[in-house]
Amino acid sequence: MTLFAVNQKQPVSIDFDPWEAYNDIEQHGALTLSNIEFTTTNLCNMRCSHCAVGYTLQTKDPESLPMDLIYRRLDEVPNLTTMSITGGEPMFSKKSIKNIVKPLLKYAYDRGIYVQMNSNLTLPLDRYLDIAEYIDVMHISHNWGTIQEFTDVGFGAMKKQPPLKAKLKLYQQMLENAATLSHQGMFISAETMLNQSTTPYLSKIHNEIVHDMKCSRHEIHPMYPVDFASKLNVLSLNEMKDAIRYLLEIRDPETWMLFGTLPFYPCIDDASDQELLQQLRNAKNVTMRNDPDGRNRLNVNVFTGDVIVTDFGDDNGTLSNIQKDKLTQVFDHWLASASAQSLNCHCPLFKCLGPNILVKDTYYPQTDFKYNERLMHHKYNM
Ligand code: SF4
Repeated sequence: MTLFAVNQKQPVSIDFDPWEAYNDIEQHGALTLSNIEFTTTNLCNMRCSHCAVGYTLQTKDPESLPMDLIYRRLDEVPNLTTMSITGGEPMFSKKSIKNIVKPLLKYAYDRGIYVQMNSNLTLPLDRYLDIAEYIDVMHISHNWGTIQEFTDVGFGAMKKQPPLKAKLKLYQQMLENAATLSHQGMFISAETMLNQSTTPYLSKIHNEIVHDMKCSRHEIHPMYPVDFASKLNVLSLNEMKDAIRYLLEIRDPETWMLFGTLPFYPCIDDASDQELLQQLRNAKNVTMRNDPDGRNRLNVNVFTGDVIVTDFGDDNGTLSNIQKDKLTQVFDHWLASASAQSLNCHCPLFKCLGPNILVKDTYYPQTDFKYNERLMHHKYNM
């Protein structure tokens, strides 16, 4: 029996991924703002070395902007279909849960909007049960090949280290929470980054996600470097292809595996790339997702009102602020920018929306994707 309320929305499934940016192309004929991500707290009980906000985490949140302003800005987004709530750990600060997270969840619920929460799932179970009925996808990161990786990297950006016993308890809590919440009907999606640290342990990580944590989906995303330190950890394209082939071999074929932001495209003239793409297309319970950042998503910081195009490295700086502009205006402005224009290619036959800035900078600095787009359209008569 499920503890959670059943609402009217079509459930998330392998055939229905509301976060796929291509949905907007099919529904509205163009890239459309349909996904807003909110940074709702700067606080977290962990400090992962790889966390996008790990080094900016504070000990006390500032006052947030008035919720009325946030609601107004959301009301002005006519095609809003998904919302993501991120932090820090969104369920850590009771003040933030009460004043920001719950009001946002309620807003989304009333408008029939799909909600993803990005959590580390290490807090007491009650916190997550309390909001379970409002969550469509509980998204967690699982990059822990060994317990030591968790105890070292999971707290890597913390100055004063907690005792080992306390860290181990959090790991256990995460496993138990995931299994219990999954059992009770929550859709938990665990994401693993492909990098030098995770690739030796992919089998162990996958088995833990599927068998111990009972997650509904295992997400695989290559790690892209946001600073010099992370560059060392990035895989070459060949290493990445090997890792993906390995995953396809060892995975549980009954569990949905979602590959996001892959650096392989139909227009790249490389036989092994194209072979791998075909293998992924044919594999049972496997999907590939276009990157939402800048395609259908903007991130809003509820404290400053700043709007950015990505939450994993502030490549483009702040685009605007919700105290000044409507989100749809910010999005249109972004799409018209030279950065977006140089990247936003589209090949309908392959439902491909091209690379984001990090992918292009990392693997294709010399490639002109707009040129490739013209070639592809000509070749396939698109
Ligand atoms: S959309 Fe862009 S990246 Fe994708 S196949 Fe076409 S040109 Fe290549």
